[in-house]
Amino acid sequence: MFENLSERLGGVFDRLTRQGALTDADVATALREVRTALLEADVSLPVAREFTKRVQAKATGQHVTKSVTPGQQVVKIVHDELIAVLQGEGPADALKIDNPPAAILMVGLQGSGKTTTTAKLAKRLKDRQGKRILLASLDTNRPAAMEQLAILAAQVGVDSLPIVAGQTAVQIAQRAKTQASMGGYDILMLDTAGRLHIDEVLMSEVQAVRDIAQPRETLLVVDGLTGQDAVNVAAQFDGQVGISGVVLTRMDGDGRGGAALSMRHVTGKPIRFVGLGEKVDALEEFDPERVAGRILG
Ligand code: GDP
Repeated sequence: MFENLSERLGGVFDRLTRQGALTDADVATALREVRTALLEADVSLPVAREFTKRVQAKATGQHVTKSVTPGQQVVKIVHDELIAVLQGEGPADALKIDNPPAAILMVGLQGSGKTTTTAKLAKRLKDRQGKRILLASLDTNRPAAMEQLAILAAQVGVDSLPIVAGQTAVQIAQRAKTQASMGGYDILMLDTAGRLHIDEVLMSEVQAVRDIAQPRETLLVVDGLTGQDAVNVAAQFDGQVGISGVVLTRMDGDGRGGAALSMRHVTGKPIRFVGLGEKVDALEEFDPERVAGRILG
């Protein structure tokens, strides 16, 4: 995650910190390189542009260039701006999963890693917070996907709703809700159907399920490798269904990380977790400060 970007920025800042004195022109040159590095990492143009503009406003003038360690000051400003762009306004709020049973709606396109992520998150909430969790698959078009969730649930040691053939997604959501209340579960996680593209049928089904489930959280799972496309998918889901956060998968294969850097700025929604592999433990909380530190090495 972020290896390429980190390497590129490392080169720019090495040169800058080795230079003793800095002029505003030196800073401007370095920031042009930063912008290019961001664009090469598939960060969206408006985000890259605004990012460098904000750094430039803080890094030029007497205060920084006349300081004892001007290069390091610029790096510090970039670090703080990275946190700001990853975190957005205000502190990152934790998942709201009090007052059981709370529903978490998992949405996304087919193949994004939604089912795997549902199991990973269930495991995490069970292991770390001791929650009792019920999983239910609403993918009525793909019986194999329902089976896959049941298998993963057993693997991570949580319950899954028995599969009843012939029910609609809304009927399953209703049954799952009843089961979650009667069974004393803390959290009901609903793995909604995915499709290859966003279309009206997908969205209206997710909306109907949302209205039944009244989810505390609606998490969009998107493939981080798709870069700016991931951000566009998030904006569309948010517009039509309303999402509370994003999980970026396949970040183990993404040396660029552009989706992570653009997501909050473009959609206003926080990245909650990143998927870092196929195993059920390969899910990490997204911590903007740690990520900014990682990007700057
Ligand atoms: P769904 O169609 O959205 O439910 O996708 P699946 O959960 O079935 O995942 C599709 C494939 O992506 C599976 O082979 C998963 O093991 C894989 N996958 C999911 N998340 C990650 C991840 O974070 N990293 C990697 N490398 N593979 C992942």
